[in-house]
Amino acid sequence: MRPWEKTEINERGNMTFAGCDLVELAKEYGTPLYVLDEQAVRKVCRGFVGCFERTGAKGRVYYASKALSTAAIYKIAAQEGLGADVVSGGELYTALSAGFPAENIELHGNNKTLPEIEMALRAGVHALVVDSHEEIGLIDSAAASLGVTACVSLRVKPGVEAHTHEYVMTGIDDCKFGLGIDDGEALRAVREIASCKNLKLVGLHCHIGSQIFELEPFLIAADRMVEFAASVRETCGIAVEEINMGGGYGIMYTEADAPMEPYDYLEQLLTRLLARCKEAGLDGMRFAVEPGRSIVGEAGLTLYTVGTVKHIPNVRTYVSVDGGMGDNPRQILYGSLYTARLANKRNEPVGESGAVAGRFCESGDILIKEAPLPRCEAGDTLAVFSTGAYNYAMASNYNRVPIPAMVLCREGESALIVRRQTYEQLVENDLVAPWLEDDKA
Ligand SMILES: *Cc1c(COP(=O)(O)O)cnc(C)c1O
Repeated sequence: MRPWEKTEINERGNMTFAGCDLVELAKEYGTPLYVLDEQAVRKVCRGFVGCFERTGAKGRVYYASKALSTAAIYKIAAQEGLGADVVSGGELYTALSAGFPAENIELHGNNKTLPEIEMALRAGVHALVVDSHEEIGLIDSAAASLGVTACVSLRVKPGVEAHTHEYVMTGIDDCKFGLGIDDGEALRAVREIASCKNLKLVGLHCHIGSQIFELEPFLIAADRMVEFAASVRETCGIAVEEINMGGGYGIMYTEADAPMEPYDYLEQLLTRLLARCKEAGLDGMRFAVEPGRSIVGEAGLTLYTVGTVKHIPNVRTYVSVDGGMGDNPRQILYGSLYTARLANKRNEPVGESGAVAGRFCESGDILIKEAPLPRCEAGDTLAVFSTGAYNYAMASNYNRVPIPAMVLCREGESALIVRRQTYEQLVENDLVAPWLEDDKA
């Protein structure tokens, strides 16, 4: 079912989501407002974990927390038995402060800083995912000075091209992430890691892209990863314990998107990995995946209040809302498409399509170019769907607009999980150079 079809209409004619009246939420918490459906998040987590149980595969689901990194989401992920993948000191700090168990965290990044590496080693994370030759020496010496052995995984490029937006294609050779299997760089890195006293190679990792709808690229990548694990064992005598296949399962943003259920991808992927490992004599291999978007994407929506409605005769109607590229930069970054509904006019017939325009000072700040909506007027509550992933996570203070609040909804109950940023917080870090104090030029 599409996310906008999962909503219901209550006796007031308002749209409800996770049992909460969206118009009431907008009134209570203000707009723009990120809204997250807790049960929807849990359902996907359970679906993924269930795939391991059904296929008999050993391993773990890591929540790719760059999709949405807040204390509450780490709590939910931990309660559902997921690990977490973090890509920065900030995400690691957020996870640890939320009480997320360090041993279930892995640290990613193509250019981790020394303080980030040290922070991860001190915390005792499950693994640091090595992404370059330079990093091997850096992690080894950091581990030596802390007196620990660093468990590392190696990110490789299986050379798979997934049909998705160019910016999120990461499995191909011309990509800043990972080391190539085909050009021998990955094997060279394995040897380098093996020669380091303070490193232990525990796994191999790949991530072939994001918002992928086809199953085939995942299966091809799985074959390549098992082949590579086998050649690492043959040529270096190292038996890696874990193959991590990354994330990337597509979700529904518009009517045109028709992905499989996210757990269907995983079930078939695990089945393939198990079969290939068996053929290669790599029994006992553990598997990991790192879904991000598919866990939180469809579980979130954003509420806006309609302000000005500008009819340009014979051209277009612009319906402006109180948010835009500051809270959702995906449209301006990738040309991403979204679906919107008026939460207070759910029963009214759809009229001509108009553009949903943001409030930011860029003509490109258009959330939706053509949204079929009922007649809009100032004060309407507009819901934009599938904004749970890479929206709050990518939000900015462009135009010095505060970052919106986020509420978690569960069966009609709601609670704030991110406070709305205040104007005071916006100027908190501003300083005036001493020579500017004197108000003369
Ligand atoms: C972004 C990313 C993910 C998550 O991708 P989704 O498309 O959100 O599932 C997983 N692993 C790595 C290494 C990533 O960079």
